[in-house]
Amino acid sequence: MASDKREGNLDAPTRHPLGQDDPAFYDETAVLAEMERVFDICHGCRRCVNLCFAFPTLFDLVDASSTMEVDGVDKADFGKVVDHCYLCDLCYMTKCPYVPPHPWNVDFPHLMLRAKAVKYRQGKVKLRDRILTRTDAVGSIAGIPVVADIVNAANKAKPTRKLLEAVLEVHADAKLPEFHSRTLKKRMKGHATLASAEPAGATRGRVALFATCYMNRNEPGPGEDLFAVFEHNGIPVILAGKERCCGMPRLELGDLESVRHAKEHNVPMLAELVDKGWDLTALLPSCVLMFKNELPSMFPDDEQVRKVADAFYDPFEYLMLRHKAGKLKTDFASSLGRVAYHAACHQRVQNIGHKTLDLLSLVPDTEVELIERCSGHDGTYAVKKEFHAYSMKIVKPVAERVKRYEADHYGSDCAMAGHHIEQGVADGRVAEHPITLLRRAYGL
Ligand code: SF4
Ligand code: SF4
Repeated sequence: MASDKREGNLDAPTRHPLGQDDPAFYDETAVLAEMERVFDICHGCRRCVNLCFAFPTLFDLVDASSTMEVDGVDKADFGKVVDHCYLCDLCYMTKCPYVPPHPWNVDFPHLMLRAKAVKYRQGKVKLRDRILTRTDAVGSIAGIPVVADIVNAANKAKPTRKLLEAVLEVHADAKLPEFHSRTLKKRMKGHATLASAEPAGATRGRVALFATCYMNRNEPGPGEDLFAVFEHNGIPVILAGKERCCGMPRLELGDLESVRHAKEHNVPMLAELVDKGWDLTALLPSCVLMFKNELPSMFPDDEQVRKVADAFYDPFEYLMLRHKAGKLKTDFASSLGRVAYHAACHQRVQNIGHKTLDLLSLVPDTEVELIERCSGHDGTYAVKKEFHAYSMKIVKPVAERVKRYEADHYGSDCAMAGHHIEQGVADGRVAEHPITLLRRAYGL
């Protein structure tokens, strides 16, 4: 008879749907029991000890308990583990041998998400976290001309940052994003799209860009760079339209109803674009992951969600698919020298390989150093008063790698991670998005 105690998976990992519509999903007693079961497996395994602070927090609780087992840990302390999880998915996708179809069925990130959802429904969420995760609402106010200038100045001034820390518990030293009143959408308004598209391989050769709250209002430059690079390669680009936040910040808070609302707004609009022949992309790996993996996991029977997921690509994945079909220009005008490239967690767990590294490596006289470690930014984790110091510890080895490599350029597919690394490097140099580097290599 086959044992259910075999060590690790022999089969390809699968993932069960999140199951948020099952009434048992929000049953706190059931969630605590499942946490005790999974924590016990993790305590016996400890492979993930260096991925984030969720696991060290758990193991410290176990080691300090009277039994030195999970049953000795006060269940009221389980939340301390949950609070350190920012749902990067790395433990599930890169480490855990006990994920389904293994009978132990360990899905640590989904369990943490379930615990966060219970907490959110119980109303145990700080005002700060409710505000920080309303990225579209915050951006639409902070991005108003004049207001943007005031907000940006206040974000850099010590007295206002001290006040913000005292009132809202946003750490005074955390780098906050800059707001641009000339958003990506404003910059690209009236842009004349290329008329014709050439399908190649799996790609249809025309792309609708989901701007994302952050790249639209906080960092519009790389969006312009994407237009330039794609169009240089004969790929028409449009903006996806009247989008809302993809819902990832609310997911990380456990507010699954807001994720549903975001999906009900965005998915029909994106599915219509797919029906009209457009492929989809976004410059933030978290937003790509939301459409490719998270929404299908929450809404497995929704055909429009599946359609959008199938048409969604990481930008560098898209360009490398074109390259495979002989449709990427390699007429680079200049080299990039030494590039320290940070692979963002939410891109790594898309299972697409290192497409950014592959593409940058096509540029002559360019060396790319791959850094596969969490940056510690992780949504809002790095700006929270209670977690900022942890996030700086997480980024330290990444920043050290950048410095040791003596890179001419460094950056991450996740612009926010790039800026957090910048804070770790702290030598005055700024992180650059890989699409910006690629545009420069093309001389566009
Ligand atoms: S999902 Fe990421 S942050 Fe959460 S426990 Fe796993 S590795 Fe840590
Ligand atoms: S998530 Fe999996 S690999 Fe990580 S500590 Fe737990 S059982 Fe081990």
